[in-house]
Amino acid sequence: MDDLFEIVGCIHAHSIYSDGSGDYPKIIQSAMEADLDYLLMSDHMSLKGRKQGYNGWYDDFFLGIGYEIQDPDDQHHYLAFGLEETLDPSLTHQEYIKAVAEKGALGIAAHPFEERDPKKAIRGLPPINWTSLDYPEVKVIEIWNMMSHWMEKTTLRNQFWNFIHPRSFSTHPKQKLLKWWDEVNQTRKVTAVGSVDAHATKIKILGLFEKAVFDYKIMFKSIRTHLLLEQPFDQSIEEEEAENIIYNNIEAGRNFISNYRRGDARGFRFWAENGNTKIQMGETYQAEEVKILAQLPRKADIKVIRNGTIYKKLETSHLELQVPAGNYRLEVEVKNRGWIYTNHIKIRGISK
Ligand SMILES: [Zn+2]
Ligand SMILES: [Zn+2]
Repeated sequence: MDDLFEIVGCIHAHSIYSDGSGDYPKIIQSAMEADLDYLLMSDHMSLKGRKQGYNGWYDDFFLGIGYEIQDPDDQHHYLAFGLEETLDPSLTHQEYIKAVAEKGALGIAAHPFEERDPKKAIRGLPPINWTSLDYPEVKVIEIWNMMSHWMEKTTLRNQFWNFIHPRSFSTHPKQKLLKWWDEVNQTRKVTAVGSVDAHATKIKILGLFEKAVFDYKIMFKSIRTHLLLEQPFDQSIEEEEAENIIYNNIEAGRNFISNYRRGDARGFRFWAENGNTKIQMGETYQAEEVKILAQLPRKADIKVIRNGTIYKKLETSHLELQVPAGNYRLEVEVKNRGWIYTNHIKIRGISK
């Protein structure tokens, strides 16, 4: 089908070095048991896991350690990967967004547009938001954050159900965020990842018993980001190079997001063709029209999104469609629940 190498992993997790409940050995074990190829850790304001030497290979599983930066007022959470030292904690978000870019590190805007109803939300957990995402240095956003979405949807009334069935409520990424993402891509390139934001926080339910909400292994079986690489990814690659491969791929957008709960999406592909030229996700290509293609692990409902609106809907395991210039991405659903979300392929008309 193609000569790309797929690696599947999770992004955004917290350990005991910030507000997570698990230590690094436990998290690494959970990730390997969940059959991940990679995991990107991001403790709040701390690179302690990296300093302790946990970054790197464990057999053919790779652990990359960055951190989650926040404003002095705890807003504008921003994941940074590829830094050896944390930045000055007094920086404002405008300053750290710039600093991450200047150091050539990868920045990812975390849980943008998070909303929690203060009247219904569990006490002491206000929303953590981005007042604006319109910074040219913000090149990657989380389009689907499992934990953030859970916090939005969990109220005093439904908390019991949501604690017991932590993955059941988040059926799709937020429409508002997808809309912003499609719009911004009309003028500049912003790519997306999915994230888990795993904490395995232990919370008392109804004051009765303690349960780890979203245990690591359960979280690693939810929102995953599938990277399509040009070379095999294994222990023969030096640690620093391995990190760069992952971070560059994420920024380039040659990847898609899946919810493992709806099925293993390994083997899914979305690309475009013009004659012998193949165009991958994250790329821009000049032509009046191209053929877009997708291969699915099994039959499902595909929505072809063109410039932010639904262009075509069909149920199939193999898509082949001649299309005019535009920005294309796919949404794949199983029984009306979101399964796969791709990055954009952009076809620019020659006259433009
Ligand atoms: Zn956060
Ligand atoms: Zn977080």
